[in-house]
Amino acid sequence: MKRLFVLAAAATGLIAYAQPFPGAKPITLVVPFAAGGPTDRVARDLAKAMGKAMGDGANFVVENVNGAGGTIGATKVAKAAPDGHTLLIYHIGMASTPALYRKLQYKPLEDFEYLGLINEVPMMLIGKRQLRANNYRDFENHVRANAGKLNIAHAGLGSASHLCSLMWQSAIKADQAMATIPFGGTAPAMNALVGGQVDLMCDQTTNTTGQIEAGRVKAFAVTSAQRLSGNMLLKDYPTLQEMGLKGFNLTIWHGLYAPKGTPSAVLTQLNSVLKLALNDPDFIKKEEGLGALVVNDQRSDPAAHKAFVASEIAKLKPLIEAGGKFAD
Ligand code: ASP
Repeated sequence: MKRLFVLAAAATGLIAYAQPFPGAKPITLVVPFAAGGPTDRVARDLAKAMGKAMGDGANFVVENVNGAGGTIGATKVAKAAPDGHTLLIYHIGMASTPALYRKLQYKPLEDFEYLGLINEVPMMLIGKRQLRANNYRDFENHVRANAGKLNIAHAGLGSASHLCSLMWQSAIKADQAMATIPFGGTAPAMNALVGGQVDLMCDQTTNTTGQIEAGRVKAFAVTSAQRLSGNMLLKDYPTLQEMGLKGFNLTIWHGLYAPKGTPSAVLTQLNSVLKLALNDPDFIKKEEGLGALVVNDQRSDPAAHKAFVASEIAKLKPLIEAGGKFAD
């Protein structure tokens, strides 16, 4: 895409000059979780697709800023210069963390410019391969029989894996049965699960698929309302609804954001480039192979995505507050 975007000198309103964006300076995509995990994976593939779509040697780099369920990375972007050179990829944590953190350093609906929705990703309940359970029913019985002895890994308060573990424990009424162990992302959490240092995890298919295929972890159920019938490897796992957890439906999404105040011409350009990337067959194929669905319809329009995040915040708040687990 040709860089025809013009920035006006807003301070005086008198001088208008053409300044190509992004120019020689790279665009940094901040991933608020550890390298190698689901958010990192989609970010790296998206950075490649957006770089290709932008052309002219545009340079996207990925920076991992982990910790506190993604809120450290999100804070960094909220406070970054609003020039389009620092972007955030975040997931449902954008909507869950306001209810979980009393002292969040940013307001999700006020401190960011919304660029659009990227994908939807179901999650799976998985366990270390040494667990004595080979299907969901055995697994749930095993959890009950071992109350107080098992632990569940997650990517920090407010992360998708944390949210899933809260919802699942509350659905099976086993809140006290497990200790929760936070990591800087689900890549290190997965290493601990494969190594047998933790017992269970709920994570996106983009992280679980390869490990299930290699037999390094056991999988028990999917968290979406429907089975993953389009994916040869995952299609036979039951949904939690089928397993009797009425109404259980958790699908994660990722979105792209810029700091508040980024010039509108830059935002328009970035959204167009995002949309081209979301229609890139290589990007779509990669995501689909891992059980994720690329969103390339009007839900990737900035206003639609912002309205969606607002509705997710409203939906998650009572659910999380009922659980009563807060951080500072
Ligand atoms: N999948 C993680 C989560 O549970 C985050 C990550 O490591 O990408 O939120």
